[in-house]
Amino acid sequence: MTSAIILSIGDELVLGQTVDTNSAWLSRELATIGVRIAAHATVPDDQPSIERAIRSATVNCDVLIISGGLGPTEDDLTRQALAGVLGMPLETDDASLKTLTAFFVNLKREMAGSNRIQAMRPRGTTMIENTCGTAPGIAAMFGDCRIFVVPGVPKEMKAMFSRDILPALREAGGGAAIVSTTLHTFGLGESNIAEMLGDVMQRGRNPSVGTTVAGGVVSLRVNSYFESPEKAVAEMERTTATCREKLGHLIYGQDEETLPSIVAGLLKASGKKVATAESCTGGLLAKYLTDVAGSSEYFTHGWVTYSNEAKTQQLGVPEDMLKGHGAVSSAVVRAMAKGAMRLAQADVAMSISGVAGPDGGTPEKPVGMVCIGIAFKDPHNASSVGTHGRTFRFSGDREFVRDRSAKMALAILRFHLTGIVMPF
Ligand code: AMP
Ligand code: MG
Repeated sequence: MTSAIILSIGDELVLGQTVDTNSAWLSRELATIGVRIAAHATVPDDQPSIERAIRSATVNCDVLIISGGLGPTEDDLTRQALAGVLGMPLETDDASLKTLTAFFVNLKREMAGSNRIQAMRPRGTTMIENTCGTAPGIAAMFGDCRIFVVPGVPKEMKAMFSRDILPALREAGGGAAIVSTTLHTFGLGESNIAEMLGDVMQRGRNPSVGTTVAGGVVSLRVNSYFESPEKAVAEMERTTATCREKLGHLIYGQDEETLPSIVAGLLKASGKKVATAESCTGGLLAKYLTDVAGSSEYFTHGWVTYSNEAKTQQLGVPEDMLKGHGAVSSAVVRAMAKGAMRLAQADVAMSISGVAGPDGGTPEKPVGMVCIGIAFKDPHNASSVGTHGRTFRFSGDREFVRDRSAKMALAILRFHLTGIVMPF
């Protein structure tokens, strides 16, 4: 398997002023042709540092891709560093000088003397044409390592990589490919999911399965590396099927799919309309439901009833129920959902009431306690309404509690619409 190291060069990168997006992009591109990334490295615009980085990288990989430091100014030293490592003098590349001169003639601008260096390369190396800017790239060999140097400007780097470097490496790679897909779950923690997946997550397995977490969503990333794209895709699909077998309906979506987009699809397909009644989430659930284009097909009304009075006046939650059970209770969220469904003439309604914190917690109703309600038309009796209420404990700050509450309401709605019993 071909291995690559990506070396990014620039003071602004090591200082954190510019985020190194080149390495991420290059890694994804290289994966498509089955090149394994051994490391990312970043060094400042300092010639000895660049030389050291090149020397150490070239003994540890088959391909070294360097971006940055090819400009005409004094802080652009990658070319000099490469010449230093190769032990070769810099020479002018006649064809590049011609292109560069023509570029400035075209712009009707005088070429600064410093630009001439951009037409230079270490002896024995070749230029990589730059069709979007002035700095050509350089292709070189050092020992057994192939080196490609491209400018740091993302647009130029991408064009040159796609046009010249990727095809050259694909040929050398013999058609191998890494393909990836991501499955998304919500509701259980990363360790629960890992336990359920068992040996599918074993290190060294191909396709590999790893988990990542973002915003309460635990995603499984499947990477499949094989000698051909067809085989890589077939094996990826086999592993994906195994993950689905193990996790069942905990998996709500794949790749770009989100909880809102999945719920939106289910609502559209069923022709059902949903209403929301929210307290502690302040409309976040309604926001998620309307994040999806075309949401007017299924969403007509959402209430934010923050105070007890609003819950009573707007949704008809009985005052004595609020007094007796408290605003954060299963009874109240069921009444909120029932009221919202009736008033909106919806088919289903979701409600949320909880203690988002950081204040307002009590021993019985601590911060993070959230009740989520659902009201729905009884499929067997159109005039009767079914309701459920569930209580959750989310441990995190205010934003965390509010976000997980809204997502949990979406998850409950998804299970309701698919007729699946909640697996947690
Ligand atoms: P250079 O080729 O080093 O002159 O880089 C030109 C510009 O490209 C820099 O000022 C950055 O804004 C941008 N750049 C350089 N390296 C990267 C990188 N690794 N990721 C994203 N942008 C970069
Ligand atoms: Mg730079």
